[in-house]
Amino acid sequence: MSKMPAAFIGHGNPMNTLEYNRFTDSWATFAGTFEKPKAILAISAHWYINATAVTSMAKPRIIHDFYGFPQELFDFDYPVLGDEQLARHVGEIVDPVWVGLDEETWGIDHGTWSVLAHMYPDADVPVVQLAIDASKPLEYHLDLGARLAPLRDEGVLILASGNVVHNLRAIDWNAQDKGFDWAQRFDDDARAILLNDPSTLIDLAQSDDYQLAVPTPDHFLPLAYLAGLASTEAKTPDVFAEGCVMGSLSMTSYAI
Ligand code: ZN
Repeated sequence: MSKMPAAFIGHGNPMNTLEYNRFTDSWATFAGTFEKPKAILAISAHWYINATAVTSMAKPRIIHDFYGFPQELFDFDYPVLGDEQLARHVGEIVDPVWVGLDEETWGIDHGTWSVLAHMYPDADVPVVQLAIDASKPLEYHLDLGARLAPLRDEGVLILASGNVVHNLRAIDWNAQDKGFDWAQRFDDDARAILLNDPSTLIDLAQSDDYQLAVPTPDHFLPLAYLAGLASTEAKTPDVFAEGCVMGSLSMTSYAI
C-alpha cells in the first residue's frame, strides 16, 4: 500500500454535512486523489478533554454534539466501524506518551463525520478518534503529531479536523463567503508558516490577531498535528481549499 496523506481540514458549520459547496467539494476531491485507506485516525476539535485517549470500541456511536440545528442533521447517521487494533497500535507508536483506550465514553463526533460524509459517504473505512488533551501546551501536540508519522506507511489516513480561525461569538451570518480583516490576516499568516516552516507554528501565538482568531485552542490544535507530522518528515503541506466564511471562520485545508 502506498504512503497515505495526512490532512488538516477546516470543517466549519455542521450543516456542511448535508450541504454541497466549494469546501465540501474539495474534501470529496481530495479523497479521490489517493487509494482508499485501511483506516482513519481522526483528530477532531470536538473531543477536547483533559487526557490523551483514543476510541477503541468496535462500533463507535455517532455523536450529535451541537444545538439549534435542523432535525435532519440530528437524524444524520454515519454507521462506521472502529478499529481496536489501530487504537492499541497508536498507543504503542507514540510511547512513552501515554494514550488511554476509550471503550465507551466518546465515539465519532461531527468534527469527523461532517467531513467524512463527503470523503467516504458509504462509511466504509473504520475510524479511530484521538482526543485533544486540553491540559497540554502546543508543543505537546506538535510532538504527538510527529509520532504518528509511521501510520502513513501502514495505510492509515491521518485526518485532523478543526478551523485555523474559529470565533463563534464574532460570526456574521450575512458574511457568507468572506472573513473579517483580522481573520483573513491570521489565515494568511498561518498559511505562510505552514508552507515555509511548519515547525514554527508556535510563532502564530505572538500574532496580534491570535486572541480573536483563537479565543479557545480546540479548533486550532488539530493543525499542530499536521504541522508536527510535516516537520518531522521535512515536508511542507499543500493548500487544497482556502478562504474564510461568516467573518470569523477559516475553512482553509492542508495536506501532505
Ligand atoms: Zn467545529
